[in-house]
Amino acid sequence: MSTNSILETFPSTTNGNGNGHKPVEATRLSDASVQQIYAELLTRIGEDPLRDGLLDTPRRMEKSMSFLTRGYSESVEKVLHGALFDVDYDEMVIVKDIEFYSLCEHHLLPFYGRAHIAYIPNGKVIGLSKIPRIVDVFARRLQVQERLTQQIAEAIEDAVHPQGVGVVLEGQHLCMMMRGVQKQESSTVTSAMLGAFKTQTQTRTEFLTLVRQK
Ligand SMILES: [Zn+2]
Repeated sequence: MSTNSILETFPSTTNGNGNGHKPVEATRLSDASVQQIYAELLTRIGEDPLRDGLLDTPRRMEKSMSFLTRGYSESVEKVLHGALFDVDYDEMVIVKDIEFYSLCEHHLLPFYGRAHIAYIPNGKVIGLSKIPRIVDVFARRLQVQERLTQQIAEAIEDAVHPQGVGVVLEGQHLCMMMRGVQKQESSTVTSAMLGAFKTQTQTRTEFLTLVRQK
């Protein structure tokens, strides 16, 4: 498993697929293709990326990583396009138990769990199906749970300028579960409260009570 055979085996960025197996010596790291980098990574952890079971792994890793981080190519504006509606309703809108999957930016290990989101409209509401998609725009990036929580709340505030927004995330972090600490049962709870959810205890309590009801 020499460097050359990695370069020959895995598609390079610069010679495309057309020219057979002409290896391109990547003299700069940025010239190496994603698959070459993953193949090299497999070598560095003590594996042989050219053995049968791993031959297709760099390609799968590239595809998987691109899926898990697709939030970078999405935006709340695109997701919400045409999905804001004028209403008279001014009671709390709450969407509970939205599954999310993210990657911690410290270890690139998954953290996942449930998001609970509420807001009090101020003349406009968001199409309900769009709320989980807003979560995904931010969850499908490298994250820390605190920032993810805040970004979801701010996105809803920016979109419909409600009287207030409350967001609670409950997350299980594989970087805690699989590594040193191994506190399998612990979950991390974060919250962001804006507007009425911040200033009015009653509103915040109503939201948190609804979140706790199973
Ligand atoms: Zn981590």
